[in-house]
Amino acid sequence: MHKDLSPEHVQPIDKGDEFQFSCHPEVECFTDCCRELELALTPYDVLRLRARLGISTGEFLERYCLFEVADEEVLPRVYLGMVDDGQGSCPFVSKEGCAVYEDRPAACRTYPVGRGAFRKPDGRCHDLYVLLSEPHCKGFAQGQSQDVGQWLEHEGLEDYNAMNDATLAVYQHLKVSDGIALTELQHETFILAFYNLDAFREALLADQLPVQEGLAEQWRQEIADDDKALLLFAVQWLTWRLFEE
Ligand code: SF4
Ligand code: SF4
Repeated sequence: MHKDLSPEHVQPIDKGDEFQFSCHPEVECFTDCCRELELALTPYDVLRLRARLGISTGEFLERYCLFEVADEEVLPRVYLGMVDDGQGSCPFVSKEGCAVYEDRPAACRTYPVGRGAFRKPDGRCHDLYVLLSEPHCKGFAQGQSQDVGQWLEHEGLEDYNAMNDATLAVYQHLKVSDGIALTELQHETFILAFYNLDAFREALLADQLPVQEGLAEQWRQEIADDDKALLLFAVQWLTWRLFEE
């Protein structure tokens, strides 16, 4: 189902504002929206999905992802590829619903709310919300009212938002806003450190990649078996490698 994001279906909403919505197997459009999506994945989405599937980030990227470097953009985007089944289905949708429900991407969890996060110069983030009231979605006639904050909590977004906000140090770096031109090799470095995190960890621990001078040695223990620590390390490392070195 194509997203219908024409302006009349996108309304700004505050975190304390309430809306009525529920999505469940009895709703007549159940799983219709899991098709024909341009579903951009965040680094943390990939970490969660590959752990769910029991494969490496490299296998996940190869099997399920599409890469794009748009002319007007500095950094590559990674999309979840839809299946060639005549309906453009998400690879994880089934008659019973989402097969990776507990680890579904942040965009799937947040819907029908949309969240934009912006990094301030002091490193803190502020966020804005919209309600996407698309006509094909019957969920607005279901369930009880909740406010945006309750919805985010209910959908398990705390870790997703925290990790995605941390990556804004790269995505919204001043040099990215200024439209810096990156080389193909720098694009590959970005994909390695933000998306192919298992390979990034392996290369770091095998001393196959340079690290910033003066790093306390405990970084090795911290990233060895902690995915969130690894992603936070990748944020610092990429900032250094792409923008400061
Ligand atoms: S209610 Fe909305 S979110 Fe749920 S399946 Fe239908 S279209 Fe998708
Ligand atoms: S990951 Fe799950 S919720 Fe998201 S589009 Fe695919 S099947 Fe639907």
